Formats: sequence, C-alpha cells, structure tokens
Amino acid sequence: MSDLFWISRAGMHELAHLHFADAEASYADAAYVMFGVPYDGTTSFRPGARFGPRAIREASFNFESYDPSTGLDLYEIPFTDLGDLGVMKVPEELVGQVEDVAGEIAGDGKVPVMLGGEHTVTIGAVRAIRPDVYIVCDAHLDLRDELDGTPYSHGCVTRRILDLGVDDVIIIGARSGDREQFEVAEAMTRLYTADTVRERGIGAILDEILEEIVGRSVYLSIDADAIDCCLTPGLGTPEPFGMTPLDIREVVRTLAPHASGFDYTEVAPFDAGQTATVAAQVVREFIARHWTAAR
Ligand code: MN
Ligand code: MN
Repeated sequence: MSDLFWISRAGMHELAHLHFADAEASYADAAYVMFGVPYDGTTSFRPGARFGPRAIREASFNFESYDPSTGLDLYEIPFTDLGDLGVMKVPEELVGQVEDVAGEIAGDGKVPVMLGGEHTVTIGAVRAIRPDVYIVCDAHLDLRDELDGTPYSHGCVTRRILDLGVDDVIIIGARSGDREQFEVAEAMTRLYTADTVRERGIGAILDEILEEIVGRSVYLSIDADAIDCCLTPGLGTPEPFGMTPLDIREVVRTLAPHASGFDYTEVAPFDAGQTATVAAQVVREFIARHWTAAR
C-alpha cells in the first residue's frame, strides 16, 4: 500500500484517487493537511458518501494547476494529502478518530482540510479545533437531538456542535428541518435560509458575517447538499431550491482566510461527476485563498 501511494505521487494518474492533485508537500512542510473519511454509517436516505473522498480526488486531476484568480499554481502551495482514514463503524468511535487526526494536525500548527464522508465527520473535527464560530452551508438544519437511535447521526451535527459550547453557530442555505429544529435554530443560531440567500444575495450576507468574525477563530463546513440538487445531484439527502455552486465558491473565497479548519462533506458520487467536481474546485479555492491571505 505504501508503495502504491508513493508511485501515485510520482505521477501515475491512474492511481490518482489515492491523493489530491498537486498535493506535493511532505507532512513536515505542509501548511494544509487533507484527509478523507469514507464513512456513511448513519445515512438516513441514500448511502454513498463513503465514496466521496475518492471521487473528489479523481475530479481534482481534471483541473489545471494554475488558479487564475490568485495567480498561484496549486503545487506552489505546501499541502499534503494523508489519504483516507480506516474508519470505525460505530459513529461515536468514528467521531473520536476524526477528533484525534484533526487534533494532531492542528497541534502541529497546520490547517486540516477534511473530505467526507457524511456530515457526522464534522463533529470530530470541530471538537478538535474548538473554534469561536462554526459556519456551515447545508440544506438541513442538522439540529435533531437524535436520529435513528444515535446522537451522532448526520442529522444531528449542528446540535452536537452547539453542545460543545461554540460561541456562535451560523447556518447558510438551509431549507429543511422539522418545526422543533427551526425553533432551536431561531433560539440558538444565526440562520440564513436558502430563500434569504436568494433574496439578499450571498455578498450582503457575507459582509454581515465578516463584521462579526473579526479576530475570532472560525471552522467552515460545507455539506454538499447546500447546493440545489438539480445542479449537483450526487447527494444522500437531496433538496431542491438551494444555493448555487457560485454561492458556495463565494462563501469559501470570503471566509477561507479566517478559517482554522475546513471540510467538504456529503458527496455521494452516483451522478455524472458534477457534485465531486464542484467539491474538488471548492477545496482548491479554500487552500489558495487561505494561503494568499496568510502571506
Ligand atoms: Mn448536514
Ligand atoms: Mn444536508
């Protein structure tokens, strides 16, 4: 396995799914450390997010190294890809695994960039980072206290993060949840629904958020289903009338410089590749924008 990994790094792109394109740095040199979590053990509707990391990595080889919006070649940025976690089945154990890995990366002064997997993986990363502000783009509120017998379901992610005592939770793009979840959202979070994004425009919303996060640490999580399922249908829990890929890119371009951790989750790649392709490009945007701002 380690030989294959090394060979793929030497440029045999048929093995490209083993690492993200242009992730050429060693761990020691890397400022950004990517890892995949191929887990969909609590999926409530359509399984498949376990194949997300591989699909996102494959899609990453479609792109030019050059990013014209920052003027950087991606390989100039020190980032590495550790590959995929060998995941536990039990969701609370899986969350603990992610917490350990993300904690080690952050403890080494590097920014974790996680590829899901279903959204449950985010709980572990946020536990490790302990940000002041958690910002998530998601069709769903994910504010259930429990779903299908577990408090670590992908439908409970934002609720578990509230439990951690993060100062502020900001949800962008939501359009699905039961009455109780909307009540919790009203009381405990800042909610910009998908309709609000459409009415006000993502730029105005981001201006408002930027004012609030000055000097505070941020974790940014993208659930792929924030985007309208008619545009990116490779999703376990698809919802129409959502955000656009351009909205998500704008969120990431704007907030990446402030983020100390990032993930892209819930890509279940049984479409024609749209969902993983958007994810791969957005991950590149995160790294390029964060690096540009940090220099
Ligand atoms: Mn979610
Ligand atoms: Mn969702």
